[in-house]
Amino acid sequence: MYDLFIVGAGPIGCYFTQKTKEFNYKLIEEHAEVGKPVQCAGLVGENIFKYVEKEYINKINGAYIHYNEEYFALRKKNVAYVLDREKFDKNLSKDLDISFKESFLAAKIKKDKIEIKTNKGIYYSKYLVGCDGVRSTVRNYVSNKEPSYLKSIQHTVEYEHEDDMISFFLKPFSWIIPENSKICRIGVISKDPYNDLRLSKGKVINKTGGLIPIGRINTYKNNVFLIGDAGSQTKPLTGGGLYYGIKAADIAGNLFLRDKIEKYDSEWKKSFGKQILFGLLGKKIYDNISNEDMIRFYNFVKKNRTKIEESCNFDRHSSLLKIILSSPEIWPLFLKYLVRMSLF
Ligand SMILES: Cc1cc2nc3c(=O)[nH]c(=O)nc-3n(C[C@H](O)[C@H](O)[C@H](O)COP(=O)(O)OP(=O)(O)OC[C@H]3O[C@@H](n4cnc5c(N)ncnc54)[C@H](O)[C@@H]3O)c2cc1C
Repeated sequence: MYDLFIVGAGPIGCYFTQKTKEFNYKLIEEHAEVGKPVQCAGLVGENIFKYVEKEYINKINGAYIHYNEEYFALRKKNVAYVLDREKFDKNLSKDLDISFKESFLAAKIKKDKIEIKTNKGIYYSKYLVGCDGVRSTVRNYVSNKEPSYLKSIQHTVEYEHEDDMISFFLKPFSWIIPENSKICRIGVISKDPYNDLRLSKGKVINKTGGLIPIGRINTYKNNVFLIGDAGSQTKPLTGGGLYYGIKAADIAGNLFLRDKIEKYDSEWKKSFGKQILFGLLGKKIYDNISNEDMIRFYNFVKKNRTKIEESCNFDRHSSLLKIILSSPEIWPLFLKYLVRMSLF
């Protein structure tokens, strides 16, 4: 019988297993190797390097914020880093014992153990851990609520762009992230990403895409728990999931080592659950905002860009809330949407 049966050798499953590998574990992965296929823009803030090795392919010093035909720059040194996502995942998987081409199929929760069925056999474990990504099936044993899903696609393209600046387009939410001055990751999150992708004329080197889960769900029940995309631990406004997923895996790992894993759901929500709630509120406003109000918000950000450059944090979207709260001229806009959202 295993102590831990972990489904999914993505970055979050690997990070969690590294933390708990002194236990008797089984880690399964349905693909033939770690890190493939890549479905990610690989953009992270500095905070993730508290947990993982500081290895990146490009450093970012700011962003051009575009809306309609206008744009302005927000500048902050080393505000973000571009990862080689395949290498990132492979580094996290070093020395782990992974059973490849093995897929989780079903589980039976018994009184003192969990029976787990895969395409290769039946196993028993004290705990079952779902690190099986956005379309998690382990989730069925923990939460009766499904997250919402954002659709996204991204092309890696030969495209010239300042190599230390990103371009963000506000509607639909799109990005140009340079790997270097000649190759960029160009992507979009929208209801119809194939139509909305801002394709350039350059040669396409790679195409990817996928779903991103958003929304708070329950992540622990009867010795089964969910981490990363499986637990919908992403930033609702931008879809970033690496930092929150690794942070949650760190919390889960520490609790497991202290035999306190039943506290996992409340502990991660105490740590960064409010950031997700703020993001969900922001996303609701973003989805409903009129063009006229978006222009007002865009001009507000532009006017306050020095404050934003000083105090905004890549991983704490609520840092923008402080600026909003200290700027009465923008309150009516937010109150209008808060009232609307509470009525409908
Ligand atoms: C287009 C796009 C761009 C993104 N850009 C960014 C970004 O710039 N920054 C950022 O922080 N985040 C970004 N994200 C989100 C980020 O990619 C995810 O949050 C991250 O991959 C989550 O890691 P994970 O380990 O939880 O899940 P995954 O990386 O999806 O890993 C899950 C693993 O589980 C395996 N698995 C699934 N089901 C089973 C099963 N039944 N049996 C066995 N194995 C199984 C899968 O094969 C996979 O290897 C982006 C997402 C998309 C789609």
